Amino acid sequence: MTDWKPTACILCSRNCGLSVQTENGRLVKIRGDKQHPISAGYLCQKATRLDYYQNHADRLSQPLRKTADGSFEAISWDTAISEIASRLLALRGTHGKRCLAYYGGGGQGNHIGAMYASAFRSTLGIPHYYSALAQEKTGDFWVNGQLFGRQTCHITEDIEHSDCVMFIGTNPWQAHGIRNARTALKDIAKNPERTMIVVDPRCTKTAKMADIHLQLRPGTDAFLLSAMLAIIVRENLQDTSFLDQHTTGFSALREVLMEVPVDDYITRAGLERDAVQAATRRLATANSAAVRVDLGIQQSLNSTLNSYLEKLLFLVTGNLGKKGGNNFHSFFIPLIAHSEARGKRHPLPKTAVTGVPEIAGLFPPNVLPAEIDTEHAARTRALIVDSANPAVSAADTQAYRQAFDKLELLVVVDVAMSETAQQAHYVLPAASQFEKWEATFFNLDFPVNGFHLRKPLFAPLANTLPEPEIYQRLAIATGSIPKTFPLLSAAARLHQRWPGLGIFRNMLIMTLALRPRLKRALPFLLRETLGQTLPAGAAAAAPFWGASQLYVRRHAAAVCRTGLKGRGAQLAERLFERIMNDHSGTLLSEHQYEDTWSFIRHADGKVHLQIPEMLDALQALRDQRCDEQKDYPLVLIAGERRSFNANTIFRDPLWRKGDPEGALRIHPQDAALYHLQDGASAICESERGSLTVQIKICDSVRPGVVSLPHGYGLDYPDKNGKRQAHGPQINLLTDVKHCDPISATPFHKYVPVKLFVNYQ
Ligand code: SF4
Repeated sequence: MTDWKPTACILCSRNCGLSVQTENGRLVKIRGDKQHPISAGYLCQKATRLDYYQNHADRLSQPLRKTADGSFEAISWDTAISEIASRLLALRGTHGKRCLAYYGGGGQGNHIGAMYASAFRSTLGIPHYYSALAQEKTGDFWVNGQLFGRQTCHITEDIEHSDCVMFIGTNPWQAHGIRNARTALKDIAKNPERTMIVVDPRCTKTAKMADIHLQLRPGTDAFLLSAMLAIIVRENLQDTSFLDQHTTGFSALREVLMEVPVDDYITRAGLERDAVQAATRRLATANSAAVRVDLGIQQSLNSTLNSYLEKLLFLVTGNLGKKGGNNFHSFFIPLIAHSEARGKRHPLPKTAVTGVPEIAGLFPPNVLPAEIDTEHAARTRALIVDSANPAVSAADTQAYRQAFDKLELLVVVDVAMSETAQQAHYVLPAASQFEKWEATFFNLDFPVNGFHLRKPLFAPLANTLPEPEIYQRLAIATGSIPKTFPLLSAAARLHQRWPGLGIFRNMLIMTLALRPRLKRALPFLLRETLGQTLPAGAAAAAPFWGASQLYVRRHAAAVCRTGLKGRGAQLAERLFERIMNDHSGTLLSEHQYEDTWSFIRHADGKVHLQIPEMLDALQALRDQRCDEQKDYPLVLIAGERRSFNANTIFRDPLWRKGDPEGALRIHPQDAALYHLQDGASAICESERGSLTVQIKICDSVRPGVVSLPHGYGLDYPDKNGKRQAHGPQINLLTDVKHCDPISATPFHKYVPVKLFVNYQ
């Protein structure tokens, strides 16, 4: 067994630092890494099962090509790259670049590859980028763009210092999402001076720890949140001096809120006025309050409106830009972009067939089947899927499977034979996240932010390649980038000897000024030049040198507060050096709370509260019906986070210590109504499809609500090699059309279903 080595968990966006011991290619001992600058030794029960990701029967170890009979044959990397490149070029030549699309780009922890995929898209001209983020967060990003000036202005929560924390549609005990979630929750719960408010139709572990649990009817968040805001303005609980100093548009907002029928909305949400009023007053009068939300409202009815309303809660009460409130965080590498029209020559990008606009640089997976499965001349014909499994994880499995069959070229880059890979024309095997230099770009903390560049633990599985190499080969084969950059390579070697002279930096600035198109290829260029001077195998980390330069330009004082000295390029060199050398992760920056205001991108530096589309949606709520559907009387929460589910990263079902069937949770009252026994098999049916589930009777859900976990339904070979699915494939029940009108994010947390006994 080896000594303890630092790495990170890759199962959720927190990417906790780990210390591991390995033996014969296996992760045998795993514990929290106390040296990690953010997680500091914290981890949850899932991380100890990581070897099921590294070692399993579905690992890919050879490029594959689909044959005429539907089976796969092994081919060489050279053949795979040259055939894929020529098919991409042929399709682009015949139909234009609009026929090309890309889906994925890194899971929870492999974002270095995504950076190269992005450069590949840019150099080849692939205009459509679909991402799982666009089935979760784009409504939120759109609202951020309106309120704060850019869709990249992203909010975080200073939970650690909050007097009052409101969790809406999230169960951090299981879903994490906040720093060291379980420790943070326990700290609030045991401190009588602090308050925890939870808004959730389920009685989760987090809800059980709360001072106030508003167990609303699913899909009614917008009614509850607007009623709370209406109470605030009617009781004059808003922070007037904050609103005057930092915002515009409050009077128009107030006018609409004054019209909200508070009691009616609270009744529609299935709640009592006293509890809602108590929660509202506590939130509005606390010295500091933070609002934390997640998919429970972002994937439910009115999702974009929900994102607006939850932000109004901390804005109207003056809790932006202060200790214990909500704040913006810096991005070391931006995960998203800002999408907007820039004059007539640069209209807002839209999908070619459905005309859905881009948000934050992303297109929503809910429209992709319609973009492919059509006779429209501008349809998507070629798709690259990287580190994603939309055949299972996107809404509407049937629509996806049917659409994938219509593609002229489907290329999958992955570590495992996923359901999407099974439909591909080419499958390119990637090295695992523990076999290459890797990093997460989920560096979303404030005031202290960190970054963790991880060294590989193992040599890559034979015949696999890391994604940066795959994309660089594809970019060269398609003629999108040059093979070499001799002058810059020479400058990089000089930089290695005399880093203080700025030789490489100056040469790079000059090269990009002379050949601006190379900016699109920057990650490749840096990997090929500066990357060759980095430790063996670490070339793909070279773009972090450039990221350090940009980060220091914007956040120099905050970088210096972490203990680094120097200015400008020199400070950036030191930051990059620390990133390369601190294998447990390093601090990036330490901001001050008042710095929050420097992140706002409206020219007047203020928050623009008046968003016409949202005020219209708020007024239209009055006419929205909340009745249950007669034919589908239960509401399914599709995609609950539990103790042993992750995304689709684990394929071997043995990784789960509990809940192997991913049971459907149902309230005892409903179980009796539908004659369902605990442990029995039942059929769950929506308008779109049906699946077999196992019943688990429990009172953690409201009557009328049932829940199923995500991440199940993957097939895996048994000991005879026969593939078999395990647990519910929930997207057989969801429908691409059941989604938000602005962001097209799916309403996974509100799927009307019915249940009946399975007699088979
Ligand atoms: S909180 Fe997330 S990143 Fe941390 S150990 Fe658990 S699953 Fe892994």
